[in-house]
Amino acid sequence: MISLGIESTAHTFGAGIIDDKGKVLANVKDLYTTKKGGLIPVKLGEHHAEVCDSILRQALEKANLKMKDVDIISFSISPGLGHALRIGAVAARTLALKHRKPLIGVNHAIAHLEIGRMLSGFKDPILLYVSGANTQVIAYDGGKYRVFGETLDIGVGNFIDSFARFLDLGFPGGPKIEELAKKSRKYVELPYTLKGMDVSFGGLLTNLKTKYRTGKYGAEDLAYSMQETVFAMLTETAERALAHCEKKELVLGGGVACNKRLQKMCRIMCEDRDAKFYCPENQFLVDNGLMIAWTGLLMYKAGETISPEKSAIRPYERTDDVQVRWR
Ligand code: AMP
Ligand code: MG
Repeated sequence: MISLGIESTAHTFGAGIIDDKGKVLANVKDLYTTKKGGLIPVKLGEHHAEVCDSILRQALEKANLKMKDVDIISFSISPGLGHALRIGAVAARTLALKHRKPLIGVNHAIAHLEIGRMLSGFKDPILLYVSGANTQVIAYDGGKYRVFGETLDIGVGNFIDSFARFLDLGFPGGPKIEELAKKSRKYVELPYTLKGMDVSFGGLLTNLKTKYRTGKYGAEDLAYSMQETVFAMLTETAERALAHCEKKELVLGGGVACNKRLQKMCRIMCEDRDAKFYCPENQFLVDNGLMIAWTGLLMYKAGETISPEKSAIRPYERTDDVQVRWR
């Protein structure tokens, strides 16, 4: 069985094709970027509409398939920015209707967990999901993927991007901040904000900006200290979730997980408590169509299709709103 998945929750428009053995046939995407400034929802929609056709064509070409060879079509139905979600939804509905294929609406956060689970071979991992808009520690319990810890304000990626934007580094800022951080080993004390299992970044952002404006601290030292502080907070929430849920496997998901320093902290933490650790390669960490295609397959096999008329996007759906029938 061949599954085509379309991702369009935020900055990335992607299409992935996978078979039911987990063989990756294509994973193509186009990321909306800016040299200066942030991400504007209307522009995002325009970007996705512009690249949609070409991305889908490229995915099929890469997989050496035609639409008639595709068995099911999945798309990210939630959560995300309406302007972006809508484009993927329209593309998926159109293809499903035109080619008479089953349609599946996938929750994006859950797709990050499912692709990590498949690639790692882990049975019941905890996901540390660190992306632009989302920061959550997710684990399966009682028929749902439950959120055991999360950000109380902005997502860690948006936080890092805001700091990068403040330093005039453009979007996405994460990779640039990581490079900047490598140039320093000087730790500047920053607020460490962990409340129970939840994290918060708003105060930290203000603190960083205030420190930078005094002129007493270099961008490199602040980037380094920010990473050390924030990634320690995230590693600690992941560890607390492992202990609380009595689980023994951790996977990473989301674009911020491309950061080597965060990966190292999580690996060390897992080694110390005899847990297994897996970090997917970058193309499966960032937003991608393949994870949507794979999760769609799992859902389809559990009977979870939707009719195009009922496939309205759900920008605010939470991870734990979804009843997981495929596990
Ligand atoms: P996603 O929303 O999952 O596609 O992830 C996008 C976010 O990941 C953006 O906020 C990026 O700045 C961030 N990101 C990408 N690469 C890195 C990196 N190497 N270090 C930190 N953040 C990163
Ligand atoms: Mg994501």
